[in-house]
Amino acid sequence: MHCPFCNEVDTKVIDSRLVAEGGQVRRRRECQNCHERFTTFEVAELLLPKVIKQDGKREPFNEDKLRSGFMRALEKRPVSVEAVEASINQLKQNLMAMGEREVKTRIIGEMVMESLRKLDGVAYVRFASVYRSFEDISEFRQEIDRLERNPE
Ligand SMILES: [Zn+2]
Repeated sequence: MHCPFCNEVDTKVIDSRLVAEGGQVRRRRECQNCHERFTTFEVAELLLPKVIKQDGKREPFNEDKLRSGFMRALEKRPVSVEAVEASINQLKQNLMAMGEREVKTRIIGEMVMESLRKLDGVAYVRFASVYRSFEDISEFRQEIDRLERNPE
C-alpha cells in the first residue's frame, strides 16, 4: 500500500503478527522513499449485508425480524428452539460468506425457505405460501402432495 506520508507506492512490510486472538493481522511497514514507518491492521470483513427491500429502500439486517419469520412458520410445530437458532446462525453465516454489502429481501426469503424445508415440511409450506403468494402454484401443489404422501 502507498505511504501515507509521501504517497510513495513502494512500502515494505518489516513485521507481521497476529493480534486480537488471531482475529487481526498487524503489519509494520516502512516506506522505501521517506523511511517513515506506519502500521496497518487487516481484519476479515464479516458484516451482515444491508437489506434491499422491494421498494428499493435499504435497511439494516434485522435478526429479530428473521427470527419472528421462522417462529410464525414454525408455530405449534415440533421443532426445538436449538434447531431454530442453529438454522438462523447458519443462515447468517451464509449471508456473511456471500461478502455482499447489500442483499435483496428476495434472496433472504429464499434462504429462509431453504432452512425451513430442512427443519419442517409444514413450516416450509406455510412460509412459502405467504412468501411466494401462490406465485408458483404447481410447485406449492407438489409440496402439499409430498407432505400428504409422507405425513410426519
Ligand atoms: Zn514515504
